[in-house]
Amino acid sequence: MKKWIHRRSFSILLDMSTEQPYAYRRRQLVEPDWTRLAGWADVTAAQWADVQWQRAHCIKNLKQLRDVVGGLLDERFYADLERDQAERATMSMLVPPQMFNTMVPDSHDAGTPTPAEFTEAFYADPVRRYMLPVFSDRRTDWASHPYSSRDSLHEHEMWTAEGLTHRYPTKVLAELLPTCPQYCGHCTRMDLVGNSTPVIQKLKFDLKPVDRYDAMFAYLRTQPGVRDVVVSGGDVANLPWKNLESFVARLLEIENIRDIRLATKALMGMPQHWLQDEVRAGMARLATTARERGVQIAIHTHVNAAQSVTPLVEQAAKAMLEAGVRDVRNQGVLMRGVNDTPAQLLDLCFTLLDGAAIMPYYFYMCDMIPFSEHWRVSVGQAQALQHALMGYLPGFATPRIVCDVPYVGKRWVHQLESYDRVRGISYWTKNYRTGIELDDPEALDRTYEYYDPIDTLPAAGQAWWTEHAGDDAATLNAAVAAAAASRRASAVQHEELVHG
Ligand code: SF4
Repeated sequence: MKKWIHRRSFSILLDMSTEQPYAYRRRQLVEPDWTRLAGWADVTAAQWADVQWQRAHCIKNLKQLRDVVGGLLDERFYADLERDQAERATMSMLVPPQMFNTMVPDSHDAGTPTPAEFTEAFYADPVRRYMLPVFSDRRTDWASHPYSSRDSLHEHEMWTAEGLTHRYPTKVLAELLPTCPQYCGHCTRMDLVGNSTPVIQKLKFDLKPVDRYDAMFAYLRTQPGVRDVVVSGGDVANLPWKNLESFVARLLEIENIRDIRLATKALMGMPQHWLQDEVRAGMARLATTARERGVQIAIHTHVNAAQSVTPLVEQAAKAMLEAGVRDVRNQGVLMRGVNDTPAQLLDLCFTLLDGAAIMPYYFYMCDMIPFSEHWRVSVGQAQALQHALMGYLPGFATPRIVCDVPYVGKRWVHQLESYDRVRGISYWTKNYRTGIELDDPEALDRTYEYYDPIDTLPAAGQAWWTEHAGDDAATLNAAVAAAAASRRASAVQHEELVHG
């Protein structure tokens, strides 16, 4: 017997029978047959394994999607996608064949589907829902939260050199480049990462990469308290290997840096990159040096659905472990319609752990960027999901669901100070000063707010927001102005650091 348990801000289906709410079954990894798709009917296994072929055949527009899928998708899907690109998308379209092939992976198991059948399954597919969002996915009542913004985590404000965010006391985030081999519709760095869309004009780095990296190192050498560097972007898989190796080798020369984490969704989206001989050999060189110096190098990837974990992903993760990285960890994003049930999250975690030796680590709540309301869940639902995950996975592989609270940072979802469930406002505190609050005596006493999606609130809460929501455009413009100001500030700082 199943029973809906209703709390004020969420509902969750609990199994009330004597069976366990979740039944573990080991999932066999499968590389879906790409030749089921008309455009790839003649693609060989050697071509599929070739990263250059993968890069050259990414889907970047409607025509390329049509070329791959043929007549399997109804015209209404193309129109829906085109409208989203024109009016809502904060990220441009970029889906590698490897990733596209994991959408509706079993579409042809019972024979060739009709266009109506394929279209329906494609609309419902969790990977499609965040990699190829369409207009009808998004909410029309509250498409964006009134407090949503570009750079919603205020990373630019915390740049100490262009692209180097110093938010936590002992760790920094280095954004080496603003591109990825794949663009996710919900990308939290939509302000900077990827190509401009009709809706979002992207900010650009001002400095050349070589100058930017010099400025980062100039700052890091003045920071003996920083022991941990997240090397990110974008996605480090888009950096020529020799440039990434050189950057990490320079980090390894700084005595106080003990942990280096390389962020790459491409380990899943384009595992062919990480299976290249040059990359494997280079990673082995870095891992050897790191081991000699007592430093840990890990890879952090971003997988949101169990079906994305295929034998090629397994090979790439294991190749990196064999090369000597300490761990491959997953930082997924919790999203409605993608992975917001206990079974979806547990299936994903077990598949990562058992199938690919990837450690489930975090699920981030989707950030408050524009047009993300249909993906976001409430803090209350995130708490219920965390509860549902406990006890199934080994403790070391039980992911924490975290909320990235603006001006605070990652907080476990049960860590909030108080919670107004009617208006969907949670209040959070912190135990450290971010890089922009070092002289702020009240930073640790203040509470910081995070907002649930308005459509998930009870009627009274929705009515309150209807009455009090401000002007979306003004909020957006203020965020753009703040981001631009921070970039100017970081350029000035660069001049001071590099040229004295
Ligand atoms: S891979 Fe990461 S940085 Fe790149 S688009 Fe996706 S979420 Fe953004």
